[in-house]
Amino acid sequence: MPVLLTVLGSGSAGNATLLQHGESRVLIDVGLSCRETARRLGAIGVAPESVTAAVITHAHGDHTRGAGLFSRRYEVPVHATEATRSVWPGPEVWSWGRLECDAPADIGAFRITPFEVSHDADAETVAFHVETAAGAIGFATDVGVTTAALRSRFRRCRLLVMESNHATDLLRVGPYAASTKARIAGERGHLSNEALARFVREDLGASVECLVLAHLSRVNNLPELAEMTCREALEASGRSDVRVVVTRQDRVTETVRLDARGARPGLAALSGRQIALPFQQPVAKAPRCTAPQGRRRTAEAPV
Ligand SMILES: [Zn+2]
Ligand SMILES: [Zn+2]
Repeated sequence: MPVLLTVLGSGSAGNATLLQHGESRVLIDVGLSCRETARRLGAIGVAPESVTAAVITHAHGDHTRGAGLFSRRYEVPVHATEATRSVWPGPEVWSWGRLECDAPADIGAFRITPFEVSHDADAETVAFHVETAAGAIGFATDVGVTTAALRSRFRRCRLLVMESNHATDLLRVGPYAASTKARIAGERGHLSNEALARFVREDLGASVECLVLAHLSRVNNLPELAEMTCREALEASGRSDVRVVVTRQDRVTETVRLDARGARPGLAALSGRQIALPFQQPVAKAPRCTAPQGRRRTAEAPV
């Protein structure tokens, strides 16, 4: 049975990602509105009431906007650290589950370990190391800099979802106020394409098969630029076997499927909107994995 990861939407107007394995369906952040989250789940054939839990990285609105209403409407427990709960912007959730930094929490089929990252939420911001039946996933969407803890926890993952927020030059010449530019580029802001490329060149673990680029700025970045910067870094380090998937704000990204060890190749037929990472994938001839055809566009009111 494969593990599936689908980014429902990502960017400063709202972030939500679905992790699935069997009956376990866990949302990482619910920063789209409740209605939009339900709609995008519907677009991939998932009933919102079948979601079993949500976990929250931090209390910025683009990660929490729909969480309270979604939780109450569909009776979904929301797991967050005490610090995030203490600054919860509301509305109140149906029930709380507890997360503690550096303490693994078994949530359905997933063992999720939150750890603190450098970002400027009022309370702490966490990234996640997720152990699954098909290997580990690293998830870090709001990080000013890659810390030693992040580099170490992500080294043995198969799949990484990481921020590629802005192109340094576009941010520099862009329309934001100087103070906003300084905040974004600062150590507690957001990771640039170039900073992610440095991580790829210097710290990417040999086990990583796929990089999902998330939280792209619509003002200070371009999807093509983020992808190109990442691919160049992969090629420079002899890792062009690693697949690159670029997420968008206004649409659901193709699902990444991790096959578990021992799964029969071809057991689950691929739809046009999935990419597969079979457990023992030959690394030399991996095809390009971004698949613009067949993506379903979803409308979203700009925020
Ligand atoms: Zn944030
Ligand atoms: Zn954010």
